Amino acid sequence: MISIKRRMLLGGAGVALASPMIMTRAAIAQQSGAETSMDIDHAMPPETHRFNVGKFEVLVVKDGARASGSPQETFGTNQSVETVGALLEANFLPADNFVNSFAPVLVNTGSDVILFDTGLGEGGRANGLGRFMEGLTAAGYKREDVTTVVLTHMHGDHIGGLMEGGQPAFPNARYVTGQAEYDFWADPARVGTPAENGHKGVLANVTPMAEKMTFIGDGGEVVSGITGMAAFGHSPGHMIYRLESEGRQLVLTADTANHFVLSLQRPDWEVRFDMDKAAAAATRAKVFDMLATDKLAFLGYHMPFPAVGFVEKIDQGYRFVPKAYQFDI
Ligand SMILES: [Zn+2]
Repeated sequence: MISIKRRMLLGGAGVALASPMIMTRAAIAQQSGAETSMDIDHAMPPETHRFNVGKFEVLVVKDGARASGSPQETFGTNQSVETVGALLEANFLPADNFVNSFAPVLVNTGSDVILFDTGLGEGGRANGLGRFMEGLTAAGYKREDVTTVVLTHMHGDHIGGLMEGGQPAFPNARYVTGQAEYDFWADPARVGTPAENGHKGVLANVTPMAEKMTFIGDGGEVVSGITGMAAFGHSPGHMIYRLESEGRQLVLTADTANHFVLSLQRPDWEVRFDMDKAAAAATRAKVFDMLATDKLAFLGYHMPFPAVGFVEKIDQGYRFVPKAYQFDI
């Protein structure tokens, strides 16, 4: 029954009246010869979400998500499996696996179209990741529209989408990034260290754009109303960005905290991907204390999509409060 109804919906006049996104889906199904009915794995467009911060339009795109295995091997590596598992279960989450997701952000200020981080790009596509460009198109933008690309830091899940087919993915963009971050990764001294792979990734994806790059430090401005803040620790020059328009604010916290329970409720727990674990924990406490005290909204690259929320101070850390309609009023 369901299958017949679905075919009727997708046939004839239904298609002509459908939105471009639905037509694309139907077209994909037709091309592949797939039935659109009972197949629970049918292609879906990447999730996108749009809201306003004052006069800025913010578009979040889900570049992808993946199950990433034992939580304790990434978050709370200096804790027991039982301790980490108990905190997850207390928050209605499984103890033995977690999902990591990726959320590049586009900010349209009216005069600039600024992309913060690029997702995994081509390298992620075989695994169903690297879907930022698809989401950008679905939201009505072209890659040529992007005037500025800001890199919060240079881990692969943030710089992977800078190149497409050996060419810059955003041909009209200038670039902004932290001076300390670039200096670390581009340095040939990384060869023969655990950072060698990251160094190679930066040489392939970032260095080709170095001439069009503005290097900033703490307090550096991207455009009027968008300011960088040093948030070192996760990587040597990791930076976060404060957006402000007409008295409304949003802080893009990038990878300051990477799990909405484990990193926020226990900000002092060690995280595998934090390159300087003590500095990262100190930065986490500082940034989220500011967000809690000032009741500021934040968007975290690895938070549950659409990755926007607030934090409330609790005993040992912070409770994540996902955004609802705060920006619609
Ligand atoms: Zn990341």
